[in-house]
Amino acid sequence: MERTLVLIKPDSIQRGLIGEITKRFEKKGLKLVGMKMMHLSEAIILEHYAHLADKPFFKGVKNFMQSSPVIAQCWEGMEAVDAVRILVGITKARAADAGSIRGDLAMSFQCNAVHASDSLETAQREVKRFFKEDEIFDYEKTEYMHVYSEDEK
Ligand code: ADP
Repeated sequence: MERTLVLIKPDSIQRGLIGEITKRFEKKGLKLVGMKMMHLSEAIILEHYAHLADKPFFKGVKNFMQSSPVIAQCWEGMEAVDAVRILVGITKARAADAGSIRGDLAMSFQCNAVHASDSLETAQREVKRFFKEDEIFDYEKTEYMHVYSEDEK
């Protein structure tokens, strides 16, 4: 099973969308194995968004991501990284597919509701960045028998 990182961003916190967003991952059949509210430090933002450091919009992204706490979640499931990215939709929210989280809930490039890891390699790094080992939980989810077929497991 893969694990992936989701951040519920400050725009969603301000707009009361934590439940709505979490519900979509739950209903899809993903398993929540870690969750916490946190204020993002300078250091974690510089590391997390290092690939954007030279972009003109970087300062705006940094200010936005520190404008309130975020909710960090770790979701687990078969091919969870891609499954979550599909649910989230493309970066530019106003162009994201209807039915996706960004497509349904946001209009902005910057304030696009959520972050989700974009590859398995990134996900492994990002989960470690946001969660200590004892903040990720291993437990049986009996509902899984209705989510996957036997031969997929
Ligand atoms: P994603 O979050 O979809 O993986 P990126 O890693 O490219 O996308 O960008 C990280 C975040 O930076 C985006 O989610 C968005 O909040 C912000 N961002 C990206 N591109 C822009 C842009 N052109 N203008 C403003 N903000 C942007």
